[in-house]
Amino acid sequence: MIFDILTLFPEMCETVLSTSIIGRAREKGAVAFYCHQIRDYTKNRQKQVDDSTYGGGEGMIMTAQPIYDCFKVVEGLRGKKPYLIYMTPIGKTLTQKRVIELSKMDSIAILCGRYEGIDQRVIDALVDEEISIGDYVVTGGELPALILADAVSRMLPGVLSSAEGITKESHYDSLLEYPQYTKPYEWNNMKVPEVLISGHHVNIEKWRREQSLKLTYERRRDLLREANLTEEDELFLRRIERKC
Ligand code: SAM
Repeated sequence: MIFDILTLFPEMCETVLSTSIIGRAREKGAVAFYCHQIRDYTKNRQKQVDDSTYGGGEGMIMTAQPIYDCFKVVEGLRGKKPYLIYMTPIGKTLTQKRVIELSKMDSIAILCGRYEGIDQRVIDALVDEEISIGDYVVTGGELPALILADAVSRMLPGVLSSAEGITKESHYDSLLEYPQYTKPYEWNNMKVPEVLISGHHVNIEKWRREQSLKLTYERRRDLLREANLTEEDELFLRRIERKC
């Protein structure tokens, strides 16, 4: 899968995308990232990418032309219009479900805003989807873009060493993950739950499933509506409900 990131800070993106799991996946060709400097496409001598807003108000916004021209170059490189996502707090909040859907595409371009945002006309002209990473505002679209790129990349074959683990992770099946423990068996007067050292795999799976259901019930009851629950899960949840 190819990601094209359109940004004023390609070096910031490069650093993150060359590190750890994503960096290794990139090196072995499981995923490709190209970071494009929007400023290179300005047509003024000062290489200015922002201007004041019509109607007045605080702050500057990014002008349409350099973004448009940068995107057209990316389109030329890919031989077709890449699906363009603009990271913005007014977008739809990113979910694991959307991450999985996006991981099935062969190419995605991500537009990072800065200042107070971007001229609406270039958004209307090019953007296919607007995504938010949550109900808060950060200073630029790079961190949101990196979050999206990371989350989508780890769904791709060859990126994680053990793909089976993914399906048990939080949000994969609209459940939160169960608690996990490692050595030593006793730490700070706290012991690992006995079932986990029993070696009884069926009981361990049952315990993990129940912990997962319990945690989701306690913290994110809204998620349970989307979860694939068995009859046994439903019974367990009813038991918890009665206790509350
Ligand atoms: N004035 C904008 C507003 O109120 O919606 C916020 C602009 S923010 C300071 C600058 C850039 O950061 C945005 O254009 C966007 O690309 C990015 N950004 C900030 N918060 C974000 C979020 N929660 N999700 C995705 N992108 C975000």
